[in-house]
Amino acid sequence: MSLSLSAEQPAVPDDADDGVWLECIECGETFPPFEDVRYTCDECDGLLEVRYADLPTFDDFEGEGVWRYADALPLSEGVTTQEGATPLYEVPRLEESVGVEALRIKHEGMNPTGSFKDRGMTVGVAVAKELGVDRLACASTGNTSAALAAYGSRGGMETLVLLPAGKVAAGKIAQASLHGARILEVDGNFDACLDIVQELAAGGEAYLLNSLNPFRLEGQKTIGLEILEGFLADYDAVPDRIVLPVGNAGNTSALYKAFRELVQAGELAESEVPKLTGVQAEGAAPMVEAIENDADEVRRWEEVETRATAIRIGNPVNAPKALPGIRETGGTAIAVSDEEITDAQRDLAGEGIGVEPASAASVAGLRKLRAEGIVDDDERVACLTTGHLLKDPDAAAAAGNDPEPVPADTAGVLEHLRS
Ligand SMILES: *Cc1c(COP(=O)(O)O)cnc(C)c1O
Ligand SMILES: [Zn+2]
Repeated sequence: MSLSLSAEQPAVPDDADDGVWLECIECGETFPPFEDVRYTCDECDGLLEVRYADLPTFDDFEGEGVWRYADALPLSEGVTTQEGATPLYEVPRLEESVGVEALRIKHEGMNPTGSFKDRGMTVGVAVAKELGVDRLACASTGNTSAALAAYGSRGGMETLVLLPAGKVAAGKIAQASLHGARILEVDGNFDACLDIVQELAAGGEAYLLNSLNPFRLEGQKTIGLEILEGFLADYDAVPDRIVLPVGNAGNTSALYKAFRELVQAGELAESEVPKLTGVQAEGAAPMVEAIENDADEVRRWEEVETRATAIRIGNPVNAPKALPGIRETGGTAIAVSDEEITDAQRDLAGEGIGVEPASAASVAGLRKLRAEGIVDDDERVACLTTGHLLKDPDAAAAAGNDPEPVPADTAGVLEHLRS
């Protein structure tokens, strides 16, 4: 299996351009990377992966942010607003209450547009330029559209975003809007938006920048590389486990690919690879269902619902890449309720870390797995928080304290405080 942790480095095909090519994860067919537009395999419609003739080691990385890892990416520079280099926060109270040896929060909400999607876009939009396309498109639960709009405008390209009407948090629509995207509000859920935009892209209307696009996942690998370097610096060892929210399972796939490449490069032992642990909301948990049933494929959920709108997804397109990632690393997947998500959002806020609901799923999932004894007390864990609190101000206000009306005089305020 090409996605096994112990897979050999493949032979370089004639299709390679400067040591970079695309390869189908199902049938192994190879394609040149930048000659024409392609999202899946011409032969079998399988997902594609970017492959490299030379894989870097930690010593090859220099600089800061996503482009520190240029040697692990298909291009040497991108359309950038200095994404990446996000904090790996210590959370002593949360660490104590969850009960693990070490807990760190990799806060991807600290990226330029407030989510990890920027890491994928800095690479994906640069590839779009390389391909010579002029219109970019995505379906989105919100954050992809915000990042696409920002990076598209920075790259001087038109952007088109398809959003599920009424199901996108306010901050995200505001971003897509101001950065100049054409916003199409679809009377359907995210999965319907993705079906449509895939058809538009297949018809040549626009270049698709959902995580189906293999180049985007290359940028997102850098989350994993940063976490590993952070843990190596602080603990002299990589984390035992990485817990992350799962929507389309792009990050799960990307982190697994980062680790596979480090194993192939001889930088990481197979036994050291962190256990990839995915968390979904109970109302949108097809990946969890597949892991629990030991299924080879994910069943599409037609009806999905959760307050964590960023992961309100019933048909995770990257499942064929992510399922092996969870299994081969000895990880697992778990579903959490919206209440558990909100509690975790408050827990993080209590450590000064503001995240949107989907992000808090990682911490909620870790707490639950710890309570069930699936996570051990001697583990060092990184939880990924994917988006910033201000993305979804309504959810934050609903989870937080209510404002208290007071009169406009000190005596009245004092009386209120003492009552
Ligand atoms: C996109 C997104 C996710 C889902 O990530 P996948 O890589 O699709 O699994 C989770 N949280 C937030 C905040 C997001 O924007
Ligand atoms: Zn194929």
